[in-house]
Amino acid sequence: MRIDLHTHTDRSDGTSTPSELVREAQVAGLDVLAITDHDCFEGWDEAASVAQELGLTLVRGIEISCKYAGQSVHLLGYLPDPTYPPLVEELQRVLDGRSDRLPAILDRLRELDIVIGIDDVRALSADAAAMGRPHVADALVARGVVRDRDEAFARFLSPGRPAYVDRYAADLATMIETVKGAGGVTVVAHPWGRHAHSALTFEGLAALKDAGLSGIEVDHQDHAPDVREELRGLAKELDLVVTGSSDFHGTGKTGHDLACNTTAPEEYHRLVALATETAVASGRAAPGVVS
Ligand code: AMP
Ligand code: ZN
Ligand code: FE
Ligand code: FE
Repeated sequence: MRIDLHTHTDRSDGTSTPSELVREAQVAGLDVLAITDHDCFEGWDEAASVAQELGLTLVRGIEISCKYAGQSVHLLGYLPDPTYPPLVEELQRVLDGRSDRLPAILDRLRELDIVIGIDDVRALSADAAAMGRPHVADALVARGVVRDRDEAFARFLSPGRPAYVDRYAADLATMIETVKGAGGVTVVAHPWGRHAHSALTFEGLAALKDAGLSGIEVDHQDHAPDVREELRGLAKELDLVVTGSSDFHGTGKTGHDLACNTTAPEEYHRLVALATETAVASGRAAPGVVS
């Protein structure tokens, strides 16, 4: 059984439609796929109907932009009731932060004599509910300023680069509780990838587990082999579920092909069992797995 629990579509900054994602997952030999767009549920219905048609198991999820100790941390939420008001309200704040940031990024680029309009970015992200820096990167590519998204981030959009602008993100511990209230379970995405390493210590993760955290994503392209082994040991000590995933973004991110990392079936079953328990305890109409 091949299981990939972290993927994006063009409802956020991936390049495949939800239907294409599910078809590509089947071609990649996956039996279980999770759709986890940034900060939105917009791809769920389309993905679910294609998964049902093809007989592929679909876990409906989301990757939520959070902050912890002043640092950006991504939280994967699986199987929450997407209509739970506290969740809807906080996601709207995050999405508003995304929209508000866009003109600020474009102002910074204008100071560098790179003139891109909001409409140029919108045209490249027509189906996206969650607007992000990757869409600005696509506009820079279209303008011939950079070759690809990687170069756009390296030169302009990453923290410390001239067009970087911060945005609102949810408090991590509070969001773990909110997803739980919605009947879903949470897994910290790439906890030691890029910049979050220093914040998420053993003690920090232990406290998050007390807040309701179910697991951590260990096998991810942003984690070197030694980091994965250290995180695996930590997860074992804290009795957290260990996941492995591609963080697929279609052609928007190289080196993240579907199924390049996978989750062990026993860990997946543990996560789904926790979700079932949480759903019952919450009293919410949590969606459950599509199979
Ligand atoms: P944002 O959501 O606007 O804060 O932008 C962050 C998103 O950009 C994340 O989903 C990353 O996957 C993506 N990202 C970060 N660095 C790169 C890169 N070098 N190439 C492509 N995508 C990237
Ligand atoms: Zn992304
Ligand atoms: Fe992420
Ligand atoms: Fe992601």
